[in-house]
Amino acid sequence: MSQSRYQRVLLKISGEGLCREGGFGIDGEQLSKIGQEIKQVADTGVQIALVVGGGNFIRGEKLSKTTPIHAATAHYMGMLGTVINGLAVQDTLEHLGMVTRLQSAVAVDRVCEKFIRRRAIRHLEKGRIVVLAGGTGNPFVTTDSCAALRGIELGVDVVMKATKVDGVYSTDPKTDPQAQFYPRLNYNQVIDQRLKVMDVSAIDLCQQSSLPILVFNLMQPGNLLRVIRGETVGTLISKD
Ligand code: UDP
Repeated sequence: MSQSRYQRVLLKISGEGLCREGGFGIDGEQLSKIGQEIKQVADTGVQIALVVGGGNFIRGEKLSKTTPIHAATAHYMGMLGTVINGLAVQDTLEHLGMVTRLQSAVAVDRVCEKFIRRRAIRHLEKGRIVVLAGGTGNPFVTTDSCAALRGIELGVDVVMKATKVDGVYSTDPKTDPQAQFYPRLNYNQVIDQRLKVMDVSAIDLCQQSSLPILVFNLMQPGNLLRVIRGETVGTLISKD
C-alpha cells in the first residue's frame, strides 16, 4: 500500500492559502486546488492531520493594535476564524470523497467535535482526515505553535508547513532576488539566524521532540505528493 515515506503526517495550511493573493476570506478555487493536492496524498494511505490557520480573517495581534478590542479577545476571534476555515476545508475534502472529522480546541459543539487527542488518533487510524481548528485554544500564540504541539501529541512523522514559496530562504525571495535557498537546516540554524519559518516556540517544540519540519510550496501542483513520496522538495529542518 505504501507509496509514502511517512505513515502519519501533519499538514499546516495558513489562512492565506485559502484566499487569493493578498485577499481576505475564502476563495473556492484555492480551496479546490488544495483539496485536490490532499486527495492525491490521502489515496496513498498516509494518515493526515491538518492544522488550519486563520490569517485570512483575523490575526489577533494586528487587530488588537488597531481597535479597542482587548488583545486576548482579538486572539479568540482569530481562533474562531480558524474554525470557519476548518469547516470550509472539511466540506471541500468530503466533496472530493474523503472522510473527515473536524475537531476544535475551542468548543463549538454545533459544528464540530472538541479536540480530544485519543479520539483524533483513532480517527487517523481509521483513515479519516482530521482537521484541527481553534488553534491551541489559548490566546497569544499562533497556529504554527499549534501544528508543532499537535504533531507531537498525535505522533506524526513530520510537520509539513505549506507556503507559497519553495522553502526557507535567507531573506524574502519575493522582494530580494539575492535570497539564498536552504534545502536543509537544523533547528538551531533556524533560531539563530532568525529565519522566517515558524514561531520560535514552534521550532523549539519540534526540536525538543526531534520532530522534522518540511517547508514546501503547496501551490506547485503535485508537490505535496512528492514530499510524501520522499522526493527532495522544499526545506527539511531536522536535528542534523
Ligand atoms: N490564535 C491564537 N491561539 C492559537 C492559534 C491562533 O490566539 O493557538 C489566533 C491568533 O490571534 C492568530 C490567529 O488566531 O493570529 C490566526 O492564526 P494564525 O495567525 O496562526 O493563522 P495563519 O497565519 O496560519 O493563517
